[in-house]
Amino acid sequence: MTTPVDEEPRAAIGEPLVVLDGVNKWFGDLHVLQDINLTVTRGEVVVVIGPSGSGKSTLCRAINRLETIGNGTISIDGEPLPEEGKALARLRADVGMVFQAFNLFAHKTILENVTLGPIKVRKQKKADAEKRARELLERVGVAHQADKYPAQLSGGQQQRVAIARALAMEPKVMLFDEPTSALDPEMIKEVLDVMVDLAKGGMTMIVVTHEMGFARTAGDRVVFMSDGQIVEENTPEEFFTNPQSDRAKDFLGKIL
Ligand code: ADP
Ligand code: MG
Repeated sequence: MTTPVDEEPRAAIGEPLVVLDGVNKWFGDLHVLQDINLTVTRGEVVVVIGPSGSGKSTLCRAINRLETIGNGTISIDGEPLPEEGKALARLRADVGMVFQAFNLFAHKTILENVTLGPIKVRKQKKADAEKRARELLERVGVAHQADKYPAQLSGGQQQRVAIARALAMEPKVMLFDEPTSALDPEMIKEVLDVMVDLAKGGMTMIVVTHEMGFARTAGDRVVFMSDGQIVEENTPEEFFTNPQSDRAKDFLGKIL
């Protein structure tokens, strides 16, 4: 199946894909993002880690323009994120997002959940969208659930559907904001396995998670945030075994 997205020229692997340059954001007096500079290259998996309240979700939401920023710029594949309108809808469709809460449409079947965006936003034909959706549901291991409703699935299955739904839009980058933290322990692995597969397949990913196993297996880089700042960046191995800053040492001391 060919979509208009596939016809766009693909830049080389290793080029900057998501670039945040001097990004600041305030919630009233709270300086929630403080001069954030971050470049994620094509095919890279960046794991964002840090204490609760440090601005990780706000960072994800800013990249997807679910939040506006105070100053600085965010660009996706060389295009600055516009404020609103059609251009924003198009760029936002390039960013797949998976949240802690699965956020599936409760009154739509699993198949409809996955085909809705491609039909409405990507203007795909229903038959094409359904074919692609079934392939994606197969890939995340829930093909047999296609005609069920979200409430009939386990949390782990719903989260895998959420991943398939995001992938159906053919995003250039996938953002995950604590995708396993609302799951029962036995379901965490089945979701992480799908994410590891995706990473190995070359997807560019920004993943907020405290799952060190995932960071070590799939992460190229760990970005440690605290109090709205990027305090430290390193390879997962170095970060977990040899954190540099007191804030990172303190945080790791609490979660390890
Ligand atoms: P994290 O995801 O790292 O836990 P968040 O990005 O959710 O952190 O929040 C960072 C800070 O911003 C927290 O102090 C939080 O209370 C505050 N915050 C988040 N969203 C809002 C909002 N819409 N209005 C005001 N403050 C907010
Ligand atoms: Mg958060």
